[in-house]
Amino acid sequence: MDFEKMREEMIKHQIQRRGIRDKRLLSAISSIPREKFVPEGEKNSAYLDCPLSIGMGQTISQPFMVALMTQCLSLKGAETVLEVGTGSGYQAAILSKLAKMVYTVERHSQLADRAEKILKELEIKNIKVVVGDGSNGLEEYSPYDGIIVTAGAPEIPQSLIKQLSEKGRIVIPVGNSFSQDLLLGVKEKGKLKISNYGGCVFVPLVGQYGW
Ligand code: SAM
Repeated sequence: MDFEKMREEMIKHQIQRRGIRDKRLLSAISSIPREKFVPEGEKNSAYLDCPLSIGMGQTISQPFMVALMTQCLSLKGAETVLEVGTGSGYQAAILSKLAKMVYTVERHSQLADRAEKILKELEIKNIKVVVGDGSNGLEEYSPYDGIIVTAGAPEIPQSLIKQLSEKGRIVIPVGNSFSQDLLLGVKEKGKLKISNYGGCVFVPLVGQYGW
């Protein structure tokens, strides 16, 4: 399998063609071997235009969704970012190429351990994986310039709004447990200014401020 070629095709047909043009983002996606983050038997499907199962009833998100959510954060390189929902670790790996430091929280320790192992193999050093209920955020390292929630929430958790810095950006799917809208909130004078990036489907955010 020529994964590098598959990756370039994915970027061209699934990501650029849908309007993602940011050069730093495209180069970050190009530098991360997505096949490493999917289970052994699924490697041939790693570059398909869809989410894939990663065990524990969870998924690695569709490549375009990863690109769109990352673009929403407008990262320039100096930011501290919180991800809620580590899953495979793929999204965190992309973020690590675009921000200074990434904290990522996963409620399933098996997934967190697996993600941590892959990230170590790839020698990515600016990601800290934490096991816990990320719907509470991660106060210890706050405030965050960007927060990305990769599971569907009933509403934007107050805990996360609190831990976002002024002018910080939060991207999060909000809706019911079957379908959501992808929302971007930018914090201005302590309040979020919201834009809607359209419909999406994520596994539920489970926890104190989730389902
Ligand atoms: N970002 C992931 C990736 O790149 O593979 C995909 C994440 S998957 C769509 C959503 C993840 O959110 C699942 O792994 C799930 O266990 C996790 N999750 C759900 N509720 C959570 C919570 N309250 N705290 C932390 N993780 C949570």
